[in-house]
Amino acid sequence: MRFLRINAERLQNNIRELASFGLNEATYGLDRTTFTPAELAARQWLKGKLLDLQLTVRVDEAANIWATRRGFGDADASGALDATENSYASGISATSGDSAGSSGSRAARSSLPVIAFGSHIDTVPNGGKYDGALGVLLALEVMTVLEESKISTRHPLELVSFSAEEPNPFGLSTFGSRAVSGKLSRSDLTGVRNDQGELLTEALLLAGGDPVHFEQCRRDPEELAAFLEVHIEQGKRLLDRDIPVGIVTAITGIYREEVTVTGEANHAGTTLMADRKDALMGASEMMLAFEAVCRNHPANEAVGTIGRIRNEPNAANIIPEKVIFHLEARGETVQQIQEMIGTWGKQARDIAGSRGLGLERRLLLDQAPQPMNDLIMDVCAVEAEALEYPVLRLGSMAGHDATHMASLTRAGMLFVPSLGGKSHCPEEESRIEDIEKAGNVLLQSILALDGQLSR
Ligand SMILES: [Zn+2]
Repeated sequence: MRFLRINAERLQNNIRELASFGLNEATYGLDRTTFTPAELAARQWLKGKLLDLQLTVRVDEAANIWATRRGFGDADASGALDATENSYASGISATSGDSAGSSGSRAARSSLPVIAFGSHIDTVPNGGKYDGALGVLLALEVMTVLEESKISTRHPLELVSFSAEEPNPFGLSTFGSRAVSGKLSRSDLTGVRNDQGELLTEALLLAGGDPVHFEQCRRDPEELAAFLEVHIEQGKRLLDRDIPVGIVTAITGIYREEVTVTGEANHAGTTLMADRKDALMGASEMMLAFEAVCRNHPANEAVGTIGRIRNEPNAANIIPEKVIFHLEARGETVQQIQEMIGTWGKQARDIAGSRGLGLERRLLLDQAPQPMNDLIMDVCAVEAEALEYPVLRLGSMAGHDATHMASLTRAGMLFVPSLGGKSHCPEEESRIEDIEKAGNVLLQSILALDGQLSR
């Protein structure tokens, strides 16, 4: 099956078609926030494409879309697919160490778990047409190629389109993959509303989910053999090195805290400079110190941001009494994050002490970096080499559904270069030649994993 390739022209058409849902006529960006009418219409389009392929389409309780293609190692599938001809695994099953193959007739074999692949189709407001959508459309393309070539696999294959990966008006990002991996419960949905006062539970129902039986969407690790996601890089590391395919080594860890700096409000004219306890000036010094700490960290993937700040009372003639800001650090390892936060923490304490300010820190999020599975990384590297595509191993720097899937199964990610490193904007763009290469690596890696994995 080494000769199999994805069809770039068909893929490009699908990219174009899906990008018509939520198109913002003024900016040419996409407004396809989760559970909006545009996103619901895109879901319908995708389901139609999957049904056209005769896949078994299922919408789970978190409104994730799953489309299953049976494997011939699946006990329920006996006779459903031709397992003798055009079978990728038939030639290698004797050496694959597959215990499922030892029990004689196909009907008597135990089921093999699923190899799943996909991403998400929701976008940020005024976003682009590749973030998430690419992973789903490449999964669709892989299914299409296998179907038209009549290739059967031992493992069942599942395409997944996760609900609400992006930050959304209901305040729950990576919603679908968190639900599937048991990190969200029914109680987390209760009473959650968007700015218009719409209930998340109602929006979920409209998308085909089921808030009452929400936890039933959880997947048992036993059901899964692997998860692969193709995504745009959203940075410039691949582009700068002119490398078409990235193999993700780890999904970045994200650490956030809320910092409150307290000083004393006073008259902006009559208070001598030496007598001031200016919360904003102290906070500013702390913020610049944080930037310096992050800049000086030797790891490229160690980055820090202060993206949110509130100043009180925020009046021109009053010395600021209180500043609250959110500080975020990301890194590929726990150590990188700890180094940045640890160094900054000491400096912040010193700054507060020397200015006579109060300092309070409250942890908001401590999501550890998630290493990707070694076997999947190696399989992708071998397949890319066979295809003669150069690859770069790199950390993700952004959060993805694969983070959560990694707590259930072997997970891996492939990156496609982003032109100009741009994403979450209308200018988001990737070259079809690069997309095609990632698609071929995905296709061949799925087939290789199907041959190699014994469960
Ligand atoms: Zn994404």
